[in-house]
Amino acid sequence: EKREAANFIEAEINKDIANHVYANGRVLTRFPPEPNGYLHIGHVKSICLNFGLGEKYHGATNVRFDDTNPTKENQEFVDSILEDVKWLGFKWKEPVHFASDYFPELYEFACKLIRMGLAYVDDQSSEEIHNTRGDLEHPGKESPWRNRSVEENLKLFQEMKEGKYKDGEKCLRAKIDMASPNLVMRDPVIYRILHATHHRTGDKWCIYPLYDFAHPLSDALEGITHSICTLEFEERRPLYNWCLQAFDGKEKPRQIEFARLNVTTMITSKRKLRKMVEAGLVSGWDDPRMPTICGIRRRGYTPESLRHFCDLIGVAKADNLVDVSLLEYCIREDLKAKAPRIMAVIDPVKVVLTNYPEDKIEYMTLENNPEDESMGTRQVPFGRNLYIEREDFMEHPVHKFFRMTPGKEVRLKGAYIVKCEDVVKDGEGNITEIHCTVDFDTRSGTPGADRKVKGTLHWVCADTAVDVETRLYDYLISPDDKEDGRDFMEKVNTNSLTVMKSKAEPAIKEYPVGSRFQFLRKGYFIIDQDTTKDHLVCNRIVGLRDTWAK
Ligand code: ATP
Ligand code: MG
Ligand code: MG
Repeated sequence: EKREAANFIEAEINKDIANHVYANGRVLTRFPPEPNGYLHIGHVKSICLNFGLGEKYHGATNVRFDDTNPTKENQEFVDSILEDVKWLGFKWKEPVHFASDYFPELYEFACKLIRMGLAYVDDQSSEEIHNTRGDLEHPGKESPWRNRSVEENLKLFQEMKEGKYKDGEKCLRAKIDMASPNLVMRDPVIYRILHATHHRTGDKWCIYPLYDFAHPLSDALEGITHSICTLEFEERRPLYNWCLQAFDGKEKPRQIEFARLNVTTMITSKRKLRKMVEAGLVSGWDDPRMPTICGIRRRGYTPESLRHFCDLIGVAKADNLVDVSLLEYCIREDLKAKAPRIMAVIDPVKVVLTNYPEDKIEYMTLENNPEDESMGTRQVPFGRNLYIEREDFMEHPVHKFFRMTPGKEVRLKGAYIVKCEDVVKDGEGNITEIHCTVDFDTRSGTPGADRKVKGTLHWVCADTAVDVETRLYDYLISPDDKEDGRDFMEKVNTNSLTVMKSKAEPAIKEYPVGSRFQFLRKGYFIIDQDTTKDHLVCNRIVGLRDTWAK
């Protein structure tokens, strides 16, 4: 089966298939997170890419936790990462893998390198190793321990494993080339001593392999074909291949790099996100403003919208910055078709229809989704007392203000044309009530409804309204943020949450937590998990790009 390459990675895979590099053209990719934090939008890209390749080539994708830093990792992160991958709609090949499962094999691989004369135990401190590495102009200095015998190295490495030495007292280094133009190849450390409890292996090990060593060999053990990673690993590819010398299998994995995803307004570093959580700048990892998958999920984004986003941005070979508006476009596109419409007034001001009977409630028929007739209609109560948005009224209108203003008519969506006659104010001059009269001949759906007026407003019947706490979000980082030497913590917008006391039509009560709708003219919202039996909370997912101006 021939498959058109959609990007340079697929072009490479196609070549490998044509050259029969892997038996039967098999493709096995992996997603290898370190369980040291929650996943973010950058990981979404990596997940979609790896699982997308698995699907396209009728192969599969492993999840492997790269858990070689015991002090930073834990089960909470493992659980959340698996939940996120599942939520995005992908299925990994069972079982879930852990680099820590391979500690015994990795130890054997290291011994093998020692026996091949390709690794040695170094007694220098990490500082000494760092200081003797040289730089681009100068070769490094060989360690005085570089030429230990195989026997001595094997004995010392075993003693390291048995706990004979303290943290940092010794390490195992690859014996490559202290004069290599690639600094990564100047005898990198591949095992370190660390007396720390691991979240899975407990105190069984006090030596841990470094990423550069553990990763290629874990890939090899699992039979991974294409090991996709981000661009900063490009200079480490020679080391990746070097480590595979310890592996005897015929089919060796191949590392291919692509550019990290960066999105304006979004921080894509677990370390920085943790700092924001710990400093209390947000309510937690799943704060709806956070670029974590759990934050984005709670904000109300759908998995489909994130996958569409990844398709649209494609796979680049050079670092790039994607505008957050593309992500917002994707969720609008998805919800435009799926989300039922509801009328809700975010910032209510009361309207009294002075010629409307006191106790009368009538029901107006509104469509649930103008994009999809099959979603039907609903009955929305209407009465003498209503709410409209405070910003939809101006006592002294500016030029081209076609919403409600004294002496002028507007249509109330799906109901009548009304005319503002008067305003009532409190002692400080704030408007507390707007008085209008109804033109009863203009009810929507009747012949008189044809009369044109410039503005149409959404509204909620006050006597049947449901109280809703709406949470409106701004970006944590400005969309036009520039590198200006300031620490990111100083740039975080701490005014990025606005909580409103809003009013919605009663239909909203029928929806469970997690339901999404469009509040007419106000954007897409989701019912948040903070909702209780008598307190409804909605997050604004995204605003509408165009409000109806007319
Ligand atoms: P962070 O710097 O946020 O800790 P990381 O790369 O160290 O990110 P890992 O858990 O090691 O996080 O990442 C798992 C996989 O996701 C890796 O293959 C990594 O390359 C990929 N990944 C991480 N961030 C991005 C990003 N911004 N764009 C694309 N892929 C990413
Ligand atoms: Mg990493
Ligand atoms: Mg990291």
